Amino acid sequence: MNDSPTTVPARIVVIGGGNAGLSVAGRLHRARAGTITVIEPREQHVFAPLQSHVAGGSARASEAVRAQSDVIPSGVRWLHDEVFTVDADTRRVHLVSGGQLDYDQLVVCAGMRMAWEQVPGLPEAMAAPTGASNYDYDLAAKASPLLRDLRSGTVVFTQPPEPASCGAAAQKPMYLACDWWRSIGVRDDIRVVFVCPDPVPFGIPAIDRELQRKLDEYGIEVRYSRELRSVDADARTLVIGHGHAEETLSYDVLHAVPPQRAPEWIAGSGLAASDDPHGFVDVDHETFQHLRHPEVWSVGDAASVATRRSGGAIRQQAKALVKNMKAVREGRTPSAKYNGYSVVPFTVSRGTVVFAEFDREGRLQPTVPFWRSLYRERRLSWIADRRILPWVYWHLILRGLA
Ligand SMILES: Cc1cc2nc3c(=O)[nH]c(=O)nc-3n(C[C@H](O)[C@H](O)[C@H](O)COP(=O)(O)OP(=O)(O)OC[C@H]3O[C@@H](n4cnc5c(N)ncnc54)[C@H](O)[C@@H]3O)c2cc1C
Repeated sequence: MNDSPTTVPARIVVIGGGNAGLSVAGRLHRARAGTITVIEPREQHVFAPLQSHVAGGSARASEAVRAQSDVIPSGVRWLHDEVFTVDADTRRVHLVSGGQLDYDQLVVCAGMRMAWEQVPGLPEAMAAPTGASNYDYDLAAKASPLLRDLRSGTVVFTQPPEPASCGAAAQKPMYLACDWWRSIGVRDDIRVVFVCPDPVPFGIPAIDRELQRKLDEYGIEVRYSRELRSVDADARTLVIGHGHAEETLSYDVLHAVPPQRAPEWIAGSGLAASDDPHGFVDVDHETFQHLRHPEVWSVGDAASVATRRSGGAIRQQAKALVKNMKAVREGRTPSAKYNGYSVVPFTVSRGTVVFAEFDREGRLQPTVPFWRSLYRERRLSWIADRRILPWVYWHLILRGLA
């Protein structure tokens, strides 16, 4: 039997069966790249962007989740396990179950870890009846009635600094809730404070103008260039700060988004850059090939992509990654380059969205070429974000078809 490298299928292991892992696995399968195994411990697959709609009252929690077994692309093997560590020198993945798996090519798509513990008191505040977050499936479901039924008091919304998974999505439930409170006539009885890590709402002037207009319209008090430092769940107070300046705020409801980082085992496996405090997989941010281990690749939230992370970004990344893996397999140099395209769809009311699409340099990159004002608050973008994208995600993106 001829077992030359051209006839033996490559053993491709994908770590993580989230947005990135399944998009890549589906594309690799269709490209007949080899035998593909996805390692994923969770039995439920959550579409994170819908969690913002769940928290803000414009989607049911059940719409955001499906059984993992139902979303694994056909032709791809799901290994229901968790990676403990990777030995890139011997090309072996060690599993929490004690097993191990050898690979020819490895794609790390392990996402980010929500580091709640980095803010003292935050885990306790989230466990209390007054704490909620769109960055966790259960806490998003909890946010929905909490915000919907509030009639007076102070609500504080916090956004973490970068790096974060579509970090500005922290703002989405805030606008949805304000629109709801305005519609039932209680907006003036609720003090809304937004703690923003940057000096502007987003960081791209055209988008900032749209968001600032909505912040003013809703009368939201913004604390710019401030981060959440600690929470006292019993006293219902929190401290925000910047440098030595600190302020204590009282709250009736806290909607918080935690600091985020890559899972620690990535750095523990030697796959992160030694000087990266957040431990992302150290890949070339245009080709996604690892800078020291050429058979290791990474896209999605776990990769050092040098742009704002988002699901929209992954669509472009997955295309480039699969082309580049194919090039390497055929002995060519990876040449497909990712320009840092990313997206944040801000739900600025219960029927309109500011659809921010941009590249690594912060230049607007509208999906519809030449429609330069596509980012403006629009009903059409709401329909895309709330109705079309979830369908495209479940039926096309996760199968590697879009
Ligand atoms: C609340 C929220 C709102 C968002 N809104 C938007 C939006 O509106 N638009 C947009 O484009 N993007 C949005 N995003 C970002 C988008 O959801 C993410 O960029 C995307 O899900 C990242 O995909 P990923 O596969 O890299 O990570 P994930 O989807 O998080 O998947 C990572 C997977 O890796 C698995 N894993 C982790 N460790 C291991 C291990 N040791 N072994 C095996 N498997 C492991 C995890 O279980 C997980 O399933 C949002 C994100 C959040 C959290």
